[in-house]
Amino acid sequence: MNKKFENMGLDEVLLKSIHLLGYAQATPVQEVAIPKLLEGRDLVIKSQTGSGKTAAFGIPILNQILWEEREPQVLVLTPTRELAEQVKEELFNLGRFKRIKVAAVYGKTPIRAQIKTLKERVHVVVGTPGRILDHLDRGTLCLSKIKYFVLDEADEMLNMGFIEQIEDIISLLPADHVTTLLSATMPEKIATLCEKYIKQPEFIEIEDNVKKPAIDQWLYDVQKSQKMPLLLDVISVVNPESCMIFCNTRNEVDAVSDALRQEGYPCDKLHGGMEQDDRTKVMQRFRKGGFRYLIATDVAARGIDIDNISLVVNYELPEEPEVYVHRIGRTGRKGDVGIAISLVSPSERNLLRAIEKLTGEAVSEKMPPSAEAVSAAKQEHMETLETERLVKTDKSALLSEGILKLHINAGKKTKMRAGDVVGAICSIEGVTADDIGIITIVDVSTFIEILNNKGEQVYKALQSKEIKGRLRKVSRANE
Ligand code: AMP
Repeated sequence: MNKKFENMGLDEVLLKSIHLLGYAQATPVQEVAIPKLLEGRDLVIKSQTGSGKTAAFGIPILNQILWEEREPQVLVLTPTRELAEQVKEELFNLGRFKRIKVAAVYGKTPIRAQIKTLKERVHVVVGTPGRILDHLDRGTLCLSKIKYFVLDEADEMLNMGFIEQIEDIISLLPADHVTTLLSATMPEKIATLCEKYIKQPEFIEIEDNVKKPAIDQWLYDVQKSQKMPLLLDVISVVNPESCMIFCNTRNEVDAVSDALRQEGYPCDKLHGGMEQDDRTKVMQRFRKGGFRYLIATDVAARGIDIDNISLVVNYELPEEPEVYVHRIGRTGRKGDVGIAISLVSPSERNLLRAIEKLTGEAVSEKMPPSAEAVSAAKQEHMETLETERLVKTDKSALLSEGILKLHINAGKKTKMRAGDVVGAICSIEGVTADDIGIITIVDVSTFIEILNNKGEQVYKALQSKEIKGRLRKVSRANE
């Protein structure tokens, strides 16, 4: 086996992104999956979020697809919009220097913008089953060139009742596509799905592919009406760098977030009743360290890759014991030690027993912090709240170094084509097609990424260079 990406026969442009993303060596699942997918094998991979599973299918698939092809070559189905966005981001980062375009399509967001995107050259489409079918019904998504089909978090998709939609989508794929199915668990229904739709899959299961998370689990025995004051005390004493607080309903999320806001905590909330746009913005701000406390329903429990959550609180225990495992899995990741606290009222005791049965571990009960402990901790906690949260580097930003995005004041309406822009730029001395990144042409605008620190040079040269027979207004694009 080979842990080094350099020895896997991958394209230089992919190695460049892998290097800039800081992936020094392949994770165990990548080590096994990459060579097999490069060979075009169908795979069934048992793996968890955090194992590097997205890059395990992303790297080899991006390596194989053809830039020139106009129609999508890769279709990735995910159970949630958040996961779709996350997969899109990872694939976009990996494919940045191959100029791979990735579109995410999911429900609860306007379909028109998606239709526009799908009309462009798009190499990879990541989406939730319902919205993908919607595009297929409207004829705004073409599957005839799909070579790679990926079912991410298949167990979750089946739990959410997507089976019929998945089957409908599979029936529309070209016969000779390669399938990769990923799932954290392998219940019987997954085996049935594989049998029915995957020719001769190789099964990959890597034991302990994610280090067993180091999570301290505590519980407090508390009356329902006393949960809020206890929460405030516990948070002061633990003083987490970052914290997710899970509730079962939107109303409870609203109530807890209002209460924390009143206390002056940097917090925000996430639940299924919010507009998708707002949900995405909240997630992005949280990831980037914009606030410390995220109060959420289980829309945020699974599959979402946020580094560095130091404390997870179950303000209410979930009805399903599996959900508890997903929730607390937000902490104690990648070698960090995390804390998971549950506030358990008498009526939730039976849920706790089901959780302990499932995990095989007893959750240790703690006494509420004393008034002295809380007041002693207050000062330090207030100082934390006033300082900026520490977050790991934004990966897209790392990749963006050396890239400048330019805006040209002409687009489809004036029949601007990528070739016109590439031609003009390549006629600048010292600049070649290798210095040009992703080009996006919309109605009256063209956006173009200039790579390798040549952006300023191109920007200046285009002020006095004609593009498609005329001088155009060229400016630095705002992200
Ligand atoms: P995933 O399991 O796909 O959710 O990935 C978990 C995280 O690991 C993501 O933030 C990836 O960007 C990151 N990652 C993927 N592959 C590697 C690697 N070989 N080395 C370090 N980090 C990685």
